[in-house]
Amino acid sequence: MAVDLTTELHKVLGPKTAKAMATSLGLHTVRDLLRHYPRRYAKRGEMTRLDDLQVGDRVTVLAQVRRVTTRPMRQRKGSLTEVTVGDGAGTMQLVFFNHRHGQLREGSWGLFAGTVGEYRASKQFAHPDFHLITGDDDEEWARALIPIYPASKEVSSWVIQRSVKLLLDSGGGFGFVTDPLPEEIRARHGLQSLPAALLDIHRPTGSEDVERAEQRLKWDEALVLQLTLAARRRAAALEPGTARPRRSGGLLDAVDAALPFALTEGQHAVGEELAAELDRDAPMHRLLQGEVGSGKTVVALRAMAQVVDAGGQAALLAPTEVLAAQHARGIAALLGPLGRAGELDGDPAGTRVVLLTGSQRAAARREARAAVADGSAGIVIGTHALLQEGVEFADLGLVVVDEQHRFGVEQRDALRAKGARPPHVLVMTATPIPRTVAMTVYGDLEISTLRQLPSGRGGVSSSVVPVAEKPAWLGRAWERVREEVAAGRQAYVVCPRIGELEGEKGGAEEEPGDDDGAPADDGGDRRAPLAVLDVAEDLRTGPLAGLRLEVLHGRLTPEEKDARMRAFAAAEVDVLVATTVVEVGVDVPNATVMVVMDADRFGVSQLHQLRGRVARGKHPGLCLLVSEASTSSPTGQRLAAVAATSDGFELARLDLETRREGDVLGAAQSGRRSGIRLLSLLEDEELIARARTEATALLATERGLADHPGLAMEVAALATDERAEYLEKA
Ligand code: ADP
Ligand code: MG
Repeated sequence: MAVDLTTELHKVLGPKTAKAMATSLGLHTVRDLLRHYPRRYAKRGEMTRLDDLQVGDRVTVLAQVRRVTTRPMRQRKGSLTEVTVGDGAGTMQLVFFNHRHGQLREGSWGLFAGTVGEYRASKQFAHPDFHLITGDDDEEWARALIPIYPASKEVSSWVIQRSVKLLLDSGGGFGFVTDPLPEEIRARHGLQSLPAALLDIHRPTGSEDVERAEQRLKWDEALVLQLTLAARRRAAALEPGTARPRRSGGLLDAVDAALPFALTEGQHAVGEELAAELDRDAPMHRLLQGEVGSGKTVVALRAMAQVVDAGGQAALLAPTEVLAAQHARGIAALLGPLGRAGELDGDPAGTRVVLLTGSQRAAARREARAAVADGSAGIVIGTHALLQEGVEFADLGLVVVDEQHRFGVEQRDALRAKGARPPHVLVMTATPIPRTVAMTVYGDLEISTLRQLPSGRGGVSSSVVPVAEKPAWLGRAWERVREEVAAGRQAYVVCPRIGELEGEKGGAEEEPGDDDGAPADDGGDRRAPLAVLDVAEDLRTGPLAGLRLEVLHGRLTPEEKDARMRAFAAAEVDVLVATTVVEVGVDVPNATVMVVMDADRFGVSQLHQLRGRVARGKHPGLCLLVSEASTSSPTGQRLAAVAATSDGFELARLDLETRREGDVLGAAQSGRRSGIRLLSLLEDEELIARARTEATALLATERGLADHPGLAMEVAALATDERAEYLEKA
């Protein structure tokens, strides 16, 4: 049978293995399997240090059988076989119940896969899968490096290894693989061919093979991604947009006159940039990244006002209802009568500000939709509900997406499609992004940066409260909260979980940890994270007794959430105990303290975001990161690093270093698969930049990818993956 990259795996591996690979690893085609690279390589004699394994890790180790003992079980029928294996660096116990096949003999070598557990203070695998290295595998065994693949319970590393071998044997090498990279690009950057690279990565004879192969395979990833992004940029540049020139004497001037502060230099500069771009008929596609609290909202509002002055509508898309409501309130307050055109006390020269969210009552939503459709609402603020069908704009001129990391490209596109002609797009994020990540994740956008915070800010000082080592510090933390409240300020207490209901999992707006690089809960011995409802109760009856305390979390109805946020903003509440609903964008300048409970359960960027909720006014702020982690552990050090710097760019880098690339891309751009496996956004900066140049050059010609069908196919494959992913999430 002729095998190529698109061949489905069941035709090559048989239905059973293929099905297991598809369901547990998402591998469907020969391309998928060949692009499923080893995670690392085992070498006889210098294996994973068994001593370094953590309880809960799912691993494959190469080790030698040292001792085998079988005895009947005392309490139950059957026998228990204990096997001691070692790799020179340490030993480990394997435990089997009713182990019949006596292949495990002293002296034999094998690969053992399972989840590391602990029994009587020593590490063990209960019932691991194993694969003994026997004479049949001599050829494999003699190889210097044994690939260890990302595996699953259903498909072990050695099954993958065998499957790759099968492909090799059936195809007579990887000769059936056509190389998508144009010859001249390969030559220019000294890259080996794809078949050679695949052979080297799956069956290396030494580490030089792996390095050379990785270099080449990273190019594939970088180039295909950059081509995708370059194509988007090109397509966008060709779209016909509508110029929205600046007009004086309108809403923008009114906004400027109403602002209670002077713009920072950065706000002014970015404002000019946006104003000029809105004045062009090619639609703007711009990312505004700015440190937490740098005042992005005002910049966006001024752009929106310019568009309204030019006769268009502007939509502001927020990731949560709390945030949408806050924006609507803030903007309406700032505009005053100018935001109430058509109402009795409104200024007919102004416009209407409407809020459109999923939780609104049908009548309110209908009314809002009508105002959007007839154009009387110049400024429309909402959540995902804005993307729904049935929301029609009279003349959508600008879309602002706040806190972009919660939105995917497709969602941006859905909103863009609501204009008769593509509207201008401004995306705002407070998660600063290193240059290469920006080039990759947001490669289809131009970038503006606000680094400066408005002057007169007190700044936030942060400390870790290591409760295991310094239990007294926690009491001191609550005293600090009381002191701030006594001085007229307010406080947040943030917990990772809501509490009360078993098996809860917060709403979409609060998934601490998983989507932000916090160490995943290992489900093992760690206690459940602290919960809002429990902590609030303890504080109310304990250290914060007598203060006005309220809780906020995703299980409340939107009305309740909104009411509580309003009460907090109006200083009717002293202490808000909340989940990460307060993470993004919440703006209460009078709040000066934040206590984060179980801070180690949050990711670095998330902590930085949370901390950005305090010291937004003139008073200095305090952020206390409470954790049981020991200060010398990696987790403790991560927290110390967050406490030590308030530079979001530095933290973004730290965050990247402690996370897998895929996670970064995944979180940064939900609903999008990047196709990135080997590329490191931090280490491969140079390579990515070169790939970007090549991609731009390839697409600059009239023929585009017409002369490079292989590349076109890879780009199409990535697009299909993305779309599939998006559909799965929707
Ligand atoms: P972010 O960039 O995090 O979204 P916001 O737009 O919410 O920040 O602004 C943070 C706070 O700073 C708000 O209370 C806002 O009114 C205030 N602010 C914005 N610009 C200035 C400025 N130039 N001077 C003083 N305060 C400002
Ligand atoms: Mg904001």
